[in-house]
Amino acid sequence: MIIRATAIPLAIYPYSSTSHIVHWLTRHHGKISTLIKGAMRPKNRFLGEYELFSTTELLYFVKPNSTLYTAKECSLLQRRPVFRTDWRAMQSASYLATLLNKTTPEDAPHPELFSLYEELLDWAETFGRHHQFMPWTELRFSDAHGHAPNLGNCVLCSSKQELQFCASQGGVICSKCSKARKLPTLGSPPDVLAILRSWQQSEHPAPVINTTLTGKQRTEINAILSTFMHYHFNLQPHHRLAALSAA
Ligand SMILES: [Zn+2]
Repeated sequence: MIIRATAIPLAIYPYSSTSHIVHWLTRHHGKISTLIKGAMRPKNRFLGEYELFSTTELLYFVKPNSTLYTAKECSLLQRRPVFRTDWRAMQSASYLATLLNKTTPEDAPHPELFSLYEELLDWAETFGRHHQFMPWTELRFSDAHGHAPNLGNCVLCSSKQELQFCASQGGVICSKCSKARKLPTLGSPPDVLAILRSWQQSEHPAPVINTTLTGKQRTEINAILSTFMHYHFNLQPHHRLAALSAA
């Protein structure tokens, strides 16, 4: 069976001396993997028709009982050229690709997730070079998965007093609950929680990028989101670090 899909590569690996394996996020078929035969030959029909962070129309053969399909044709739909020249923006895009690749199971269609990925890549071209961009994308990503951290009041007793972030509870808890249940929390002063709440409400990155942060606030926000992403999506902190060191 041949399937036609709108797709964005999440990762590209060499396979043998002439071929590639590409993990794609597709709009209607979830994450899939294809072999691209002859991809590394100097003249091949796939040349320039797919690359990381770009949207491609992909035709592929599906084989029963196999999770590695074979690409038949690729046709580039939208190149995102900024990532070739702006390495800070590219690091943000690269983090997004890793995030989607590590957290999306194969063959589980999730069209909204594809739309979010496209949208965040488009934003990353303009805003990805700023250090505030990545934590904001993590809030958007968590929201799309129904795991948005609850930052308003204690998730255990609804108190608004002395709130601290607790990754295992998926949001903030009050100091009473933290003590009573011996739950570890992270340094999260009211100003930091207020910034995160406002970012969570923002569907556009511009106001987020315009938030001026002290070094301390930046460190605390990254500690909160790093712990949260690790706990809820099993994303290792080192995946964030490359993107952060660039921003
Ligand atoms: Zn409480």
